Amino acid sequence: MDRKRTLVTGGSGFIGSHLCQRLLDMGHDVLAADNFYSSDRHNVHELLPNPRFELMRHDVTFPLYVEVDEIYHLACPASPVYYQRDPVQTTKTCVHGSINMLGLAKRLGARILLTSTSEVYGDPAVHPQSESYWGNVNPIGIRSCYDEGKRAAETLFFDYHRQHGLPIKVARIFNTYGPRMQPDDGRVVSNFIVQALKGEPLTVFGDGSQTRSFCYIDDMVDGLISLMNSPREVTGPVNLGNPGEFTMIELAKQVIALTDSDSELQHLPLPADDPVRRRPDISRAREVLGWEPAVPLSEGLARTVDYFRGVLNS
Ligand code: NAD
Ligand code: UDP
Ligand code: UDP
Repeated sequence: MDRKRTLVTGGSGFIGSHLCQRLLDMGHDVLAADNFYSSDRHNVHELLPNPRFELMRHDVTFPLYVEVDEIYHLACPASPVYYQRDPVQTTKTCVHGSINMLGLAKRLGARILLTSTSEVYGDPAVHPQSESYWGNVNPIGIRSCYDEGKRAAETLFFDYHRQHGLPIKVARIFNTYGPRMQPDDGRVVSNFIVQALKGEPLTVFGDGSQTRSFCYIDDMVDGLISLMNSPREVTGPVNLGNPGEFTMIELAKQVIALTDSDSELQHLPLPADDPVRRRPDISRAREVLGWEPAVPLSEGLARTVDYFRGVLNS
């Protein structure tokens, strides 16, 4: 593969830091732009000595003038705790941030990939979710800044493609987990693991019968890179996720078993608009990318537990 200059927005985040690392390993030059709103700069600490890596503090809601060959546009808080903390900023990041990165891509004629989300399906009335489903999203609820923000970002990507002929790639990512999630990030996998390791109760929202499908980070990075390098006519949207589906009670029990913890379950109120079930139909990713996840939940959780053990002991 040719050596490319690659911009990763949100490059110091959970997925972004793993993506930067992989792109460097592949021999590319990587510029990470991040305002550190929902991440720790230490995520990319190990990459800093690499002369092909550059980290830049930048908020994508402002214009950015750099010269690159391709853009992975990840910048956006992904945890409900973070994206609901400043919901107006979340919508600005999704909309103004996408316009700026699309304007940059247009000036450069560069490929640009958006990390959209399964949240575009809202609380889905169709199960499992395939890309042809238009979703069931509350436009005025507490999750809307993110869900509708990402839907608007997808619209902008497809309009720049139709209006300006821009080469775009839209990935719809389902819940992804692994090392380098923030311990206080608020997402369920990191919450449960940290609680179990500390011997605290695992906070199950609602009765815990809601389902999610969890994809290990290495599989997700493979999927994003193969989508970016797919033929030009492959625009997506493409679902990327692991079709294994688990209730939050099942997840909590797996985490307790893996950590050998004596933590109990503590039921807390279910947040508003929390989707009841979610599982990706990944037929399109299999067909157009030849991609499917390889790491089962038990194995990915074990690796993530090892990581958090290290973090909590340091
Ligand atoms: P994350 O919060 O760890 O990373 C997002 C990064 O974007 C952070 O480093 C944050 O500081 C940065 N950021 C936020 N607003 C910014 C702004 N205005 N300007 C510049 N940087 C900004 O989350 P993540 O899990 O790594 O998610 C990465 C992308 O993947 C996001 O676009 C998210 O919507 C998408 N996604 C993630 C998941 C998942 O389960 N992890 C699921 C669906 C979609
Ligand atoms: N933009 C940017 N970097 C560039 C080119 C454009 O950040 O290299 C931003 C610029 O701020 C602009 C936005 O992208 O507002 C959209 O650009 P586009 O060319 O699509 O629209 P216009 O400039 O006509 O508003
Ligand atoms: N959840 C939970 N306990 C927690 C955090 C989350 O039971 O401490 C639930 C949450 O209500 C949701 C699921 O786990 O049903 C996944 O939540 P997360 O915030 O990880 O992602 P999202 O809701 O965006 O899929």
